[in-house]
Amino acid sequence: MNQQITIALSKGRIYEDTLPLLEAAGIAPLEDPSKSRKLILPTNNPLVRLLIVRATDAPTYVAHGAADMGVAGKDVLMEAPTDNLYELLDLQIARCKLMVAGPVVEKPHGHRLKIATKYLKSAQAYYAQKGEQVDLIKLYGSMEIAPLIDLADRIVDLVDTGNTLRANGLIPLEHIADISSRLIVNQHAYKTKFSQINEIITQFKTVIESQHA
Ligand code: AMP
Repeated sequence: MNQQITIALSKGRIYEDTLPLLEAAGIAPLEDPSKSRKLILPTNNPLVRLLIVRATDAPTYVAHGAADMGVAGKDVLMEAPTDNLYELLDLQIARCKLMVAGPVVEKPHGHRLKIATKYLKSAQAYYAQKGEQVDLIKLYGSMEIAPLIDLADRIVDLVDTGNTLRANGLIPLEHIADISSRLIVNQHAYKTKFSQINEIITQFKTVIESQHA
C-alpha cells in the first residue's frame, strides 16, 4: 500500500535545482515557494508533499522522521548529527568548496591563529587532522568581515566563484572539502516505504547520470 511521502527542501538554489529531479520522478509542486507563503506544499501526487525548511534544519526534519527524505548541503551535513539518516545520493547541485581564506597580505600573528566560521565542527576536524591548535570563533554570517577588522586571522567558509572573497580583499588559502547537495533519507522510512523511496531515488539517479555523462 502506498503511503504519504514528505520531502524537506530549502528555498532558493536547492529548491530550484531539485525541481528537475522531482519532475523526472513525476512530482510537480502545485505552488511556487518563491510566491507562496505556504511551508507545506502539495504536489500533483496526493501522496507526496514538500516541506519548505531552512537549509540547516533539513537534516533535523529527516532525522526525526518528520520528513521521510530531504536535500541538504554536505556543509550542513558535516555540522549536523546524522544519526537516523542515510546519505544516499550526491545530487551534484549547489556545488562549491569549503575553504580556509585570509587577507591577501597576512599580518604577522604572534598568537594561535584565530579562525572565524559558521562551520565549527568542520573547522575543528580540519585543524585537528593538521595537528594545528587554533582558536575558533563562531559567526552566523558575513564571515569575510572578521579578518578585516581583526576579529580573526582567517575564515573558514564556502567559496563558489571567489567573488565575495575578492570583494573583501581575501584569497582562498586551503581547500577543506568539496561540497554539493545530498539526498538524505530517514532510516526507518527507508525500510517501511522502501519501494516508493527507491523509485524516487532511481529517477533522480537517471537524471543526474544523464546530466553528467
Ligand atoms: P562566491 O562569491 O561565488 O565565492 O560565493 C560565496 C558566498 O556564497 C559565500 O558567502 C558562501 O557562503 C555562499 N555560497 C556559495 N556557494 C554556496 C552553496 N553551494 N551553498 C550555500 N552557500 C553558498
